[in-house]
Amino acid sequence: MNIAVAIDGPVGAGKSSIARQAAKNLDFIYVDTGAMYRGIGLYAVRQGVVTTDAEKVNALLPGIKLDIKIIDGTQRVFLNGEDVSEQIRLPEISMAASNVSAIPEVRAFLLDLQRGFAKTNNVIMDGRDIGTVILPDAKVKIYLTADAEVRAKRRYDELIAKGQDVKYEDVLADLNQRDYNDMHRETAPLKVADDAVIADTTELDFEQSCALITKIIKEKAEI
Ligand code: C5P
Repeated sequence: MNIAVAIDGPVGAGKSSIARQAAKNLDFIYVDTGAMYRGIGLYAVRQGVVTTDAEKVNALLPGIKLDIKIIDGTQRVFLNGEDVSEQIRLPEISMAASNVSAIPEVRAFLLDLQRGFAKTNNVIMDGRDIGTVILPDAKVKIYLTADAEVRAKRRYDELIAKGQDVKYEDVLADLNQRDYNDMHRETAPLKVADDAVIADTTELDFEQSCALITKIIKEKAEI
């Protein structure tokens, strides 16, 4: 039986970096589902489609082939054969991803792709609805969070380190807007699964957060 770990939570809670490290510690594969919504958001932006226009976004779906490959332990996203793993991280694509993710057809489009990973692997999957919708039977469910200002500061530092020209206030506003969208949409809103463990990393550094998550997984999955 494969073990599935679902990690959900708001923007910038450190889901990706912590989940990636925990997956390495435990020899699980790590799947970042946000990257898939980003891939669709990027495609829509490239096509000049307003990403809140559900009808127009849905019309694009048949032309999208999204492949997720784990190369040297790192997830790469291929959009119609092109590796877009870097482009999807641009700040303007974050809001596009958030917009398209509120469209039920987009979520349905990605469902099988996401579930497929858990069928054949021990997996740590992160997103917004992994424990509630995608993998409701996951052995371990974690809701990873931290205060908004702390999350915004971490995201800001990350973007600056990557050489992106951003302002802290804009990062905080974007984060609050996306969290609001994700928590208030009708389909698969972000919420704490009934059986999730809440992990708050406001006071923890990266190493401590990884240790906490790894400990929760080991306890819950009995490994
Ligand atoms: O996690 P990340 O910030 O990369 O996700 C980008 C956007 O994709 C989020 O703001 C959220 O709106 C959406 N998303 C989602 N469900 C997931 C993962 C991401 O709605 N499982």
